[in-house]
Amino acid sequence: MNVITDLRNRALSLLKSFYGYNDFRPGQYEVVEALAGGRDALVIMPTGGGKSICYQLPALLFPGRVAVVVSPLIALMQDQTMALRANGIPAAALHSGQDDATNRRIIDAAMRGRLQLLYISPERLLSDCEMLERLPLSLFAIDEAHCISQWGHDFRPDYTALSALKLNYPQVPIVALTATADAATREDIVNQLGLKEPYRYISSFDRPNISLTVIRNPAQGERLKTIVRQAKRNPLDAGIVYCLSRKNAESVAKQLVKKGVNAACYHAGMDTPSRDRTLKAFLCGEVQVMCATVAFGMGIDKSNIRWVIHYNIPSNIESYYQEIGRAGRDGMPAEAIMFFVYPDLVIRRQFADATTQKNINHDKLRRLEDYIVTPMCRRRVLLDYFGEKAACDCGNCDNCRNPIGRFDGTIVAQKALSGIKRSGETIGANLLVSLLRGTMSTAVRDAGLHRLPTFGCGADVTANDWQYFIRQLIIMDYIAVADDGRLSATEKGMEVLRGRLRVELCMPESGRPAAAAKRKPTAIIADADEQLTTQLKILRSLLAKMEQKPAYIVFSDATLVDMSRRRPLDMESFLQVQGVGDVKANRYGEIFMNVIRAFRDLGTSPAGKVGKDVLLRFNAGRAVQEIADELRITPGAVLRHMAILIDRDLIVYFHDIIPLEVYRAISDMTRTKTKEEIGLLYPDGQAAVAFAIMRHFERWNSRRPTTPWPK
Ligand code: ADP
Ligand code: ZN
Repeated sequence: MNVITDLRNRALSLLKSFYGYNDFRPGQYEVVEALAGGRDALVIMPTGGGKSICYQLPALLFPGRVAVVVSPLIALMQDQTMALRANGIPAAALHSGQDDATNRRIIDAAMRGRLQLLYISPERLLSDCEMLERLPLSLFAIDEAHCISQWGHDFRPDYTALSALKLNYPQVPIVALTATADAATREDIVNQLGLKEPYRYISSFDRPNISLTVIRNPAQGERLKTIVRQAKRNPLDAGIVYCLSRKNAESVAKQLVKKGVNAACYHAGMDTPSRDRTLKAFLCGEVQVMCATVAFGMGIDKSNIRWVIHYNIPSNIESYYQEIGRAGRDGMPAEAIMFFVYPDLVIRRQFADATTQKNINHDKLRRLEDYIVTPMCRRRVLLDYFGEKAACDCGNCDNCRNPIGRFDGTIVAQKALSGIKRSGETIGANLLVSLLRGTMSTAVRDAGLHRLPTFGCGADVTANDWQYFIRQLIIMDYIAVADDGRLSATEKGMEVLRGRLRVELCMPESGRPAAAAKRKPTAIIADADEQLTTQLKILRSLLAKMEQKPAYIVFSDATLVDMSRRRPLDMESFLQVQGVGDVKANRYGEIFMNVIRAFRDLGTSPAGKVGKDVLLRFNAGRAVQEIADELRITPGAVLRHMAILIDRDLIVYFHDIIPLEVYRAISDMTRTKTKEEIGLLYPDGQAAVAFAIMRHFERWNSRRPTTPWPK
């Protein structure tokens, strides 16, 4: 076998056995190959694109050596090392939040070649250079590399000193990774780090799995109702509600709790212990919805968040993109909904007034307003903001789902393009509008525009509407804008002028009938795969709580969805599931397969079928009495079904089944009375449930040291 296929096969087999993935994502292997060959690399991928694999896998290719990963935040380092260790990869982080003895132990392990990855903050790396000297290095990875650039908005002075790495270790490859970098920042990163002809992988900004919706001028109470609906549609799917202020966040959380949603709030005004506690509860799935200010950020990047709602508008498109980017990092469908009410805009304008970069911030706010009111494909507008042209409409935003007010704009486009060409591509949008509308001014006269045949050819369209059409033509890549604002026709634009391409435009607001975005009502009863996924998520949150890990460290949503589809019943097929590596298969395989088996067995007998109906309704948040009413059986029968479901580990949370006092009383009684006697003392089914819960704790306590409930 030749060297090249050999490397690829080795990389693939490590990817499978440690991470449980069958193949690399676009770009990943090329970066692995570059680093393995000793070449530097620059990786630009959006959040969730899979940057970690790009440096973790090369690290695994060099057993006995250590990859040093520079990362700006303790929370990120902890998250990464936890995920690595859960997959059986020896990794650790050096940071100030740990005592010296621990840090020394870690350094010692790294020196002996016992660690594959060592995470470290930039300041520590520099203060501890003689430690670096003694490490058997495989590579350097610089995460969030835009921090090194003066152009990057998160510039961190301590990052600049990283330029010393290449000078001191010219033979060790460096990979720089970031999700946000325009062309100038990219070059700056390469220069600052002294990368030598790096392999570059630059992927699109697009996050096609996140659906985009803006709800303008919601009615009184509609914001809250929408959030409640979203939360209750699947109580296991975590979500974030971003609010403008601490007070907002607190009050939204309070109102959600009143409506029966498991919500909490998070903001900079809370003390550190209670913030940490809330964060932990959210990460392990104990809290479903986090109402937060922007203070809630980077540390949670790794979670399995399915939706993000902006209760209030964000400050600009960059922050918006970053905030919604926290949803759907596993690539599974996720939702972003923004509410817009006018008073929020007024507040944002006041905020912008109070900043040092007042003009810039007002401009950014205006771009956000454009995004809010646009009837165009929203993803197109977002990508355009980041300098990317989408090839077509996305089909996954509210405007694509409800296209309103589009018309054949070919003639409009031809007029604009012809004006641009005839003026010699020397004018900006404002002059173009004057030219088209035939408006005289000194600027028009100076440029001689009044002598052009196109002068006044678009007098029937208002100036505002022309501006609006020109913007659309820019976003759709018919017109290009130079840095100084001059317009020119693109290749695509020329095709329109030649009459070979039709253009569809959105009508301006004034010309459109109002249409409310309608959402499909979702059924409670999901399809079988979805039901099983729900079941597996419940089990996952129980395990996460017992092991005190975030749920996504156990398994990602993508993994559970694949598991429900494949329904493995033996180890071999369990290992086929995406995201199941050797270590996790050993640790969790039996437990998950038990639930899959129990779920399959439900519904094969008449009693099982009722059991399944009970389970689905219970998972959808119904109370015992409600379930009884819907299924036309007695509450006692519901409880007896539940006891069976508890015995099969299909129900693992018991909060709303029987009152805690009843459970405690029954469990005390078992010391003095027989089960039959106790059964007579309590209403139908309650004792059966209590006994099943006791058996649950016996089973689970023997598996794990801690007790999840009751405390
Ligand atoms: P980033 O650091 O770019 O934001 P991550 O490295 O955290 O992204 O990866 C995002 C998600 O994609 C994670 O859940 C990760 O496990 C998953 N992922 C990464 N690479 C692959 C792959 N080759 N196949 C399947 N899933 C992958
Ligand atoms: Zn769209």
